[in-house]
Amino acid sequence: MAKMATDEIKRWMEIAKSKIKYSEHPRLKYFHGCVIVDKHGNVISSGGNKNSLPKDVLEIEKILGSSKVGSIRFDSIGRIHAEVEAFYNLNLDHRLIRGSTLVVYGESKAGTVVKSRPCANCMRLAEYFRVSRVIYSNTKNTITIEDL
Ligand SMILES: [Zn+2]
Repeated sequence: MAKMATDEIKRWMEIAKSKIKYSEHPRLKYFHGCVIVDKHGNVISSGGNKNSLPKDVLEIEKILGSSKVGSIRFDSIGRIHAEVEAFYNLNLDHRLIRGSTLVVYGESKAGTVVKSRPCANCMRLAEYFRVSRVIYSNTKNTITIEDL
């Protein structure tokens, strides 16, 4: 359900936007930045999308185990999403992110803000870590807030 974005949410979105500089540029069509905000409102991790897949990202699969999220394939399209990098940078500490908020910003190569709802894999990852809210940029410079 769409709700009004508070100044705090706008601030988080600005931080997420600043993370697109960590996106690898050469072949990407869209640049995404992501921050994880803990239940106290502190930004505790961030990431940008990457074309390449760092070898150590495979560690994520080890940490997650295979049964519940075994269908999540981080290497399925040969690139890493901003959300995955943010989870990875957090070192996947479950306790830290319980009740947290995932904030995702995205824009095209031309600099147009795009809808940045996490993909099905990233949504499953968010649910797995008990993230309680996802906030993402949307077209027409709007922000969408979804409770999980
Ligand atoms: Zn994704």
